[in-house]
Amino acid sequence: MVRLVGLCGAVVFLFLAGATPQAPDWASVERETLEHFQALLRFDTTDPPGREREAADYLRKVLTVEGIDVQEFSVEPHRPNLVARLKGSGARRPLLLMAHTDTVNVDPAKWTHPPFSAALDAGYVYGRGAVDDKDNVAASLMVMLLIKRLKLPLDRDVIFLAESGEEGSTQVGIQFMANQQFDAIDAEYCLAEGGNVTRIGGQARYASVQTLEKIPYAIELIARGPAGHGSVPLETNAVARLSAAVAAVSAWQPEIRLNETTSAFFKRLAEISEPEAAARYRAVADPARVGEADAYFRKHEPRLAAMLRTTVSPNIFTGGYRINVIPSEATATLDTRILPDEDVPAFLEQVRKVVDDPSVEVRLGKRNTRPGGAGARIDSDVFKAIESAVRTHYQAATLPTMSTGATDMAFLRAKGMQCYGVGPATDIEDGPKGFGAHSDQERILVSELHRFMRFYWDTVVAIAGRR
Ligand SMILES: [Zn+2]
Repeated sequence: MVRLVGLCGAVVFLFLAGATPQAPDWASVERETLEHFQALLRFDTTDPPGREREAADYLRKVLTVEGIDVQEFSVEPHRPNLVARLKGSGARRPLLLMAHTDTVNVDPAKWTHPPFSAALDAGYVYGRGAVDDKDNVAASLMVMLLIKRLKLPLDRDVIFLAESGEEGSTQVGIQFMANQQFDAIDAEYCLAEGGNVTRIGGQARYASVQTLEKIPYAIELIARGPAGHGSVPLETNAVARLSAAVAAVSAWQPEIRLNETTSAFFKRLAEISEPEAAARYRAVADPARVGEADAYFRKHEPRLAAMLRTTVSPNIFTGGYRINVIPSEATATLDTRILPDEDVPAFLEQVRKVVDDPSVEVRLGKRNTRPGGAGARIDSDVFKAIESAVRTHYQAATLPTMSTGATDMAFLRAKGMQCYGVGPATDIEDGPKGFGAHSDQERILVSELHRFMRFYWDTVVAIAGRR
């Protein structure tokens, strides 16, 4: 094992050394990265309504000044998608660097530093988008500038896509680009958000690289029964029937099924864990012991339990409008996250069996869903290049990961692109403390932004540089 790792590292190092004519001046790269990153954080690009225009104009200006041509593709004028391309020799197909300029909304009252201040405090930069996804925007921008300045010889085109609308309005962003402007971004590989490096006690422990993601669906349970006077209880009461249905679905655990990504994830997680935890991670591949491990995960590591199966979470429950009326209808909506290979009609049929009540209709609800698709390979040169750069910059293992949430990579994977989600390191407790993506506040360590930049540069050079 150790020999194999050493060998891979050496091979990647050799072609890295051959491909890099000149190393970046990292002190000045760090200054410039931080400057662009803070500038991007200061644009309020919250979605809705999505005001990506100013951020896109900034990016275009920076790229154009450097002599890099920029194309713009928009469904709505104030929500542009920017594409810039650096030409390679064409020996291999392009690499796409994708990042989104919009962010989720903010409640300014919850922020210690104003959400669009990009304030520096105790080694952190604060701002909406700090880890989702202006870190990737800034790193991708800097990689484009460095390739151009250093005249890095490329075997592939490197394409930068700064997309709008990732946070819930993909029709103006990736859907539009994938369905109507695909020639502009068509590539063999892509790097985007969706991964990160986990720090525990200040040390990088492992990198998650997203190679696959679950697909969001909505399932509705609708209970119907006769309306009536509340003073005369009815066994057919829609709220009571719906409650029983929701309770049954919540207690149910859909079948556990591993895929290439999750199998490798648990195996590698076991390799870097203490013996007791490692035994649980190994147990997922053992039909005799998986039940016990799953029960533990559901209590203590729910994210891992969610990676094992299609999940349903009852998140909306509506019914009734006044105290003395038995309502004729009550509805629950289940946030459903299917495994990418799930048979949706068959799954709905299973839910009907679990509900086991003909007065409760089970159907798909409306949702902006995403296409399923095969995961990115974990035996590709690109995954190996990412692993190698993780070892160099983080001295940590790389875990291929299936996101339980959704990213825009789903639309590209459906087109056959091999997409890998990467991201900077954050402390494991920073999310629960309220500083993560979509949290009340958002922040990143400046030192980790810089480390991510170096990792990203080495990764892109290894994937796209001349061999
Ligand atoms: Zn994001």
